[in-house]
Amino acid sequence: MRNGELLALDRAHVWHPYGPMPGRTDPLVVASASGVRLRLAEPAQGRDELIDGMSSWWSAIHGYNHPVLNEAARGQLDRMSHVMFGGLTHEPAVRLAAKLVEITPEPLRHVFLSDSGSVSVEVAVKMCLQYWRSVGRPAKQRLLTWRGGYHGDTWQPMSVCDPDGGMHELWSGVLPRQVFVGPPPAGYEESYARELRAAVARHADELAAVIVEPVVQGAGGMRFHAPEYLRVLREACDEHGVLLVFDEIATGFGRTGTLFAADAAGVAPDVMCLGKALTGGYLSMAATLCTAEVADGISRGEVPVLAHGPTFMGNPLASAVACASIDLLLSRDWRTDVKRIEAALREGLAPALDLPGVRDVRVLGAIGVVQLDHEVDMAAATAAAVGEGVWLRPFRDLIYTMPPYVTGDADLARIATAVRAAAAAG
Ligand code: PLP
Repeated sequence: MRNGELLALDRAHVWHPYGPMPGRTDPLVVASASGVRLRLAEPAQGRDELIDGMSSWWSAIHGYNHPVLNEAARGQLDRMSHVMFGGLTHEPAVRLAAKLVEITPEPLRHVFLSDSGSVSVEVAVKMCLQYWRSVGRPAKQRLLTWRGGYHGDTWQPMSVCDPDGGMHELWSGVLPRQVFVGPPPAGYEESYARELRAAVARHADELAAVIVEPVVQGAGGMRFHAPEYLRVLREACDEHGVLLVFDEIATGFGRTGTLFAADAAGVAPDVMCLGKALTGGYLSMAATLCTAEVADGISRGEVPVLAHGPTFMGNPLASAVACASIDLLLSRDWRTDVKRIEAALREGLAPALDLPGVRDVRVLGAIGVVQLDHEVDMAAATAAAVGEGVWLRPFRDLIYTMPPYVTGDADLARIATAVRAAAAAG
């Protein structure tokens, strides 16, 4: 299809994330992707390929078109691309579940495989609410979370996203009413820890769970915080009988420098959500893990089953690729890669602080953020990055990058240059 024709059809018929209908701006058309490069169907700003600074929203940690992941997909495709999970099971899903239990913190024992991060959060919330109903505490049906968070675009996740000017403010009047505490400060502050403990204690009778993004609040503002707050939450939840959910959908699989972000605090949740990098960005799949205590509680209830069962649950193709992606990650020295990226981003982004309009520069693991003191001009910032041969997707007041772990040093330097160019233009 010619590019012009494709874009006309795209504008007329295809919704894009958080986009208007019909579309008002033309997206870039990607013809193929390999390694850390996206090849464009037609050049943009004189570039026919772009270094991917986004890992397709935290997911493509090994880069694109990876021979190991391709082989896993191909091998599984020849055997069985999908089969329903009700009444049937198969090796790829069972292997994946066992692997996830092995690599996540000890008390997590049971795995629900779903198709997207948002759904995995829905399932996590459902597990927690149902647990308390099942053990005879039906009043415990609310959630406590931090302001400035993001947990997805379906109903329960939207209710725990940033309520002030966040992406789902439109629905604030009709979403379930949750309990919010101010966003965690970057460093450890005892006064904030006290506030957290007090909020959990005050609302414990109605709280099913506390749900947070550990260490990095992603799409709600790309904020980093001290891991110690996770320990504070664990202690408060234990003391007051509240479940603790960690949403590691963005941070899981090494992005912050530890395999899971909460590992930095040595704290385990009762329920954990994984997605994005689970399949190395190849296929849509997410997982919700819970402890034996949560599962046993649900089993003791009047309705002793978890009433959730998506059509594509445990999809064999996605499961096989997820197993291969996890094996690939663990077989590589990914910690050194993430440290190398962290060092390169620290060095490359630091000069952005001298640019007019830049409020903050922060780097953690393979995540680099430049925060402006104004709303970014998306079109200008994106064009500036593309002009440098790099794909970035700024939002709100943020220009950020989370490159694939396989990004080489020369490409990292170009990403840093592009982030600075985007900050200067946006
Ligand atoms: N939770 C977190 C922390 C996320 O970053 C995201 C997506 O950005 C989600 C949940 C939702 O995942 P999905 O977009 O796969 O539904």
